[in-house]
Amino acid sequence: MGLEHRWRLFDMHCHLDRMTNADEVAREAAADGIALFCTTVSPTDTLAAQARFGTMPNIRVGVGLHPWWITDGRCGEIEIEQAAQLAAASRFIGEMGLDFGPRYAANAQRQLDALEAIARACAGHPVEGRVLSIHAVRSAGEALDVFERHGLTAIAHCIFHWFSGTSDQLTRALDAGCFFSVSERMLATKRGREYARQIPLDRLLLETDVPDPLDTPYSAGQIESSLMRALHELARIRGTDEHVLSAHIAKTSSGLFGLQPRPSHQSDNQ
Ligand SMILES: [Zn+2]
Repeated sequence: MGLEHRWRLFDMHCHLDRMTNADEVAREAAADGIALFCTTVSPTDTLAAQARFGTMPNIRVGVGLHPWWITDGRCGEIEIEQAAQLAAASRFIGEMGLDFGPRYAANAQRQLDALEAIARACAGHPVEGRVLSIHAVRSAGEALDVFERHGLTAIAHCIFHWFSGTSDQLTRALDAGCFFSVSERMLATKRGREYARQIPLDRLLLETDVPDPLDTPYSAGQIESSLMRALHELARIRGTDEHVLSAHIAKTSSGLFGLQPRPSHQSDNQ
């Protein structure tokens, strides 16, 4: 058989709930063997997505509080508190983090306060196999400071989504045990390709981060195409076999999703 896993492709960071036809995409993805980590951007979205997709076997919903939503005031103190409470009770968390790029840096302290609140809540309420999807623009060091201060890199699986920090920060994140979800857009950049070449195979994941813009229609077929293009490019950059790479990434993702690989019986092999 050789079919070890029910899901052959994992999108480890996408905004399923912000696709206008999300239910259709979720169903199509399941039928096509694609699993999705639905990262959300606010606690209101988190609750809606948990209610909508919480029971679907191919979907995991993350508790989200996106730094852009903090910066522009769409999320304030109430949402920070709400996200921290939801995070304390949840295995899957994201999208959250820091964005110190020119458009968002003015509210760096409020972003740090929010991340601190979520990290503190997670540390105070450990959950087995917790997974965090992290947005860090010009702030990978500060994000790692927060996670390490609360011991989160040791007790949770921290995934940097589209890592764009410095080479030293990549080394630090690797030493801390972090994972990295890579999209075709990251692989379109020189630095992205270089990092994708260096990241050890067992820390490597795929993502799409679609739809862009949010609140537009999408399809499982488009997700699959994007993941396959990223996989193809990764295999090329790393000089490895695409099928071997795909199987390894699916196995890592499956573990993060909390799925046991299907027990392989002797008679099933080959
Ligand atoms: Zn995102």
